[in-house]
Amino acid sequence: MPEFSASLHSKLPKVGTTIFTVMSQLANDEGALNLSQGFPDFDASPQLLELVNKALHSGENQYAPMAGLPSLREKLAEKTEKIYGAKYDPDTEITITAGATQAIFTAIAATLNEGDEVIIFTPAYDCYEPAVELVGAKPVFIPLKAPDFKVNWEEVKKMVNQRTRMIIINSPHNPTGMVFSKEDMLQLDKITHESNILILSDEVYEHMVFDGKTHESAAKYPHLAERSFIISSFGKTYHTTGWKIGYCLAPAELTKEFRKTHQYNVFAVNRPIQKAYSEYLENEAAYLELSRFYQEKRDLFNSLIRGSKFSLQPAEGTYFQMLGYENISDEKDTEFAIRLTKEHKIASIPISVFYNQDLNPRMLRFCFAKQNSTLEQAAEILHKI
Ligand code: PMP
Ligand code: GLN
Repeated sequence: MPEFSASLHSKLPKVGTTIFTVMSQLANDEGALNLSQGFPDFDASPQLLELVNKALHSGENQYAPMAGLPSLREKLAEKTEKIYGAKYDPDTEITITAGATQAIFTAIAATLNEGDEVIIFTPAYDCYEPAVELVGAKPVFIPLKAPDFKVNWEEVKKMVNQRTRMIIINSPHNPTGMVFSKEDMLQLDKITHESNILILSDEVYEHMVFDGKTHESAAKYPHLAERSFIISSFGKTYHTTGWKIGYCLAPAELTKEFRKTHQYNVFAVNRPIQKAYSEYLENEAAYLELSRFYQEKRDLFNSLIRGSKFSLQPAEGTYFQMLGYENISDEKDTEFAIRLTKEHKIASIPISVFYNQDLNPRMLRFCFAKQNSTLEQAAEILHKI
């Protein structure tokens, strides 16, 4: 390339390449077992693959409507009413997006102004903070404390002020596996009730909640729903992270603003896959059985880890299990994760990258959305450390 200095003034000077890309790349380079980035090592249901195939061969290959295929939005409205008792109008309150990541970015870009404050709980999934910063709003971080990573609502109350414009919640929570209770939602309701605070509720792991707990969607709480962008991802629910399709539920006034931004950075997303999901949503067992499916994987992984030097608190939801290594090493988690990948051939995600401060929680996140044989191999390696 000829030399050209664009003299860019970076809008995100602190941001590098995401940890998910870094660790998956390292796992590939090192031939390591990859339990880092969150994706299954098994395939989607043959029925779903067949439906995509059918859509591809029946002319579903041009632009979908901007907000998403009507049949898919209708199916989502039915599902949301059935499982959360909340009515969303498919025409004005449901938008299909290019994954949850785009929905999160769009909700933030469409509603926040310079100087608005946004409460983010740490450790936090990594796409919230850069989106908030790009639009000139200000992230305000509130730490979740180990070992249970529950929210201290008294602290939240103290941090809320006239400039607070949004609170981002994520239950089931990545990376800790923590799940919000009904009481958490009621506390959030109390804090936001008389305010103009918006809620961004990242619910991509809504169908992975264990030990008889239920997912407390913001949709179940009318006063929360009226101010919420509720975001989910078909990638998580249907073992299809590579297809990158998600959606956003929000009241008409919020959806109207959301779509103004959505139509100019995406317009519409992959049509044949929307068609296939709309038909696959008929199969209720596919999402209703998911918690049981992943609870078995969590239990298998955790039972295999017991007796090793790693410590654990079973994840309440998601497909991630955090393991503590305080009995093994004082190393910084980023270094320890790299060493495990290079020397022991197992990749994980260091937790410190989900914080805004330089911390060393001495915990690593492992994805258990894997075949049982992969989990057995992983445990065998971890026992030797
Ligand atoms: N939110 C959380 C908490 C996630 O873990 C992920 C990861 N996949 C996303 C959002 C993004 O989902 P998608 O792949 O549909 O963009
Ligand atoms: N959400 C996935 C995880 O937490 C990764 C998604 C991504 O690679 N951006 O691992």
